Amino acid sequence: MSQQQRMGGQPMIVLGEDSQRMKDRDAQSHNIAAARAVAEAVRSTLGPKGMDKMLVSSMGDITVTNDGVTILQEMDIDNPTAEMIVEVAETQEDEAGDGTTTAVSIAGELLKNAEDLLEQDIHPTAIIRGFHLASEFAREEIDEIARDVDPEDTELIRKVAETSMTGKGAELNKELLAELVVDAVQAVTVEAEDGETVVDLEYVNIETQTGRSAGESELFNGAVISKDPVQDTMPTELSDAKMLLIDEPIQIEEADVDTSLQLDSPDQLQQFIDSEEQQLRDKVEQIKAIDADVVFCQKGIDDLAQHFLAKEGILAVRRVKKSDLRFLKELTGGRIVSDLDGATAEDLGDANVTYSEDEELFYVEGAGDEPHGVTLLLRGSTDHVVDELERGIGDALDVVAQAVSDGRVLAGGGAIEVELARRVRDYADSVSGREQLAVEAFADSLELVPRVLAENAGLDSIDTLVDLRAAHDAGDETAGLDVFTGDVVDTYDAGVVEPAHAKRQALASASEAANLVLKIDDIIAAGDLSTEGEEPEGGPGGGMGGGMGGMGGGMGGMM
Ligand code: ADP
Ligand code: MG
Repeated sequence: MSQQQRMGGQPMIVLGEDSQRMKDRDAQSHNIAAARAVAEAVRSTLGPKGMDKMLVSSMGDITVTNDGVTILQEMDIDNPTAEMIVEVAETQEDEAGDGTTTAVSIAGELLKNAEDLLEQDIHPTAIIRGFHLASEFAREEIDEIARDVDPEDTELIRKVAETSMTGKGAELNKELLAELVVDAVQAVTVEAEDGETVVDLEYVNIETQTGRSAGESELFNGAVISKDPVQDTMPTELSDAKMLLIDEPIQIEEADVDTSLQLDSPDQLQQFIDSEEQQLRDKVEQIKAIDADVVFCQKGIDDLAQHFLAKEGILAVRRVKKSDLRFLKELTGGRIVSDLDGATAEDLGDANVTYSEDEELFYVEGAGDEPHGVTLLLRGSTDHVVDELERGIGDALDVVAQAVSDGRVLAGGGAIEVELARRVRDYADSVSGREQLAVEAFADSLELVPRVLAENAGLDSIDTLVDLRAAHDAGDETAGLDVFTGDVVDTYDAGVVEPAHAKRQALASASEAANLVLKIDDIIAAGDLSTEGEEPEGGPGGGMGGGMGGMGGGMGGMM
């Protein structure tokens, strides 16, 4: 208690009665424990032999996944420190699209090793500084170790896609799916004016359909929209058609929800009906007047309007997903109209449209000279299968896009981590003071990746690490673990290839998150730290532990 905080010998109380406080080592230990618990929850999913998790929400919805960020988002975590680690996964997902389990696991391991250093009375600021130095150094080394990718080298790029899919739902059909992913990315890759390669994933749309096997997934030029025409009599094959995209309903404009209508005679009722009909006729007239052949509407279309549209030979589709409408806009060069009164021929896009009655799908190709797009139609037997497939393919698209645009890749299977650990250890010699110990701890933490890859494959993690270190000491920079045989192999040649960007990002977010947690030496909580409030009698210490217990919520027992 400092001098200023005392008044007349009495400690001055500034915190509310219900608030709780935890300081120094207690606070650090508490935070580290919470963060590590999160990291441990996802570790068993790492790598091709990682297992999946089944997450059951409080509503009873089931998600079966291997994807780090999905697991953490679906878990009912209510501990503030644990949430900071979840943010690592989210940042990694946003920035790189893959590597979320790696980032979170490394963050957890950094904190575990930091705890040992704290126990040796090393000040947190020295650890933070050491981690920061090591992370900067390691990221520079990644640039040094990474190899160039020729954007035309389809075979190598396909391997990047396959590596990202292994261990995921997509794995069983990874040859086909990797090919589709690579073709999709190449279809939207352009050479910018400054000679840079730009991949615009906005032009890759993912559509899913259940009922058939994942091996029947396909890539289409243009959009695939799982909808029906609103009336059977509408045309279903249109080439060079003018397409209207509209996000307001095509129906009678309702005055107010509660308007009541006072009718004095049957004539008035007829008049009223006539006027409604006229409104719909007018709307269809407007569509006809701007020469639209097809209407894709995000909202509903009134039955009578459907009838008029069919009579005019206009194809109409209602309740189109907002994202599909946006994609159609890119594809056809049209605009999304929000008010039919203001629509002009200028707003229309150019498209070839075909409807397949068997599949209940529309195929739309852009017909103008606007940029074109592609659609990956993912199929799977059930919703759960398709959902996990979609997550896996999403990751693969991101990493392939990065490998093509950043043009740098690395050997996976732990090879890069062991090589970085070796270099970081060498670098530690040049760091003075206690920071040196933290730099070494950083190197140890990187080796968590090959250790866990081995562990998840049922191999001896210590033997594996010893072998890998020996190979790297002998100058073999790309020596990694073949999780299927347990051998040390050149993983680059074996086709286990990852984009450098994702790895750089994983190290950055892991070390930043660890440092964020380590910087905290004081936790002041308004109210009980166990946010569930389940342990009213818990007292200060007990309440804190309760906060941890809240993590995982209803599904804690399943992890
Ligand atoms: P993350 O969420 O971090 O991407 P993953 O479960 O996708 O986690 O596992 C990625 C790790 O698995 C990477 O270290 C990658 O090199 C490794 N890996 C992927 N395929 C193989 C393989 N065939 N053999 C060995 N390691 C692999
Ligand atoms: Mg992955």
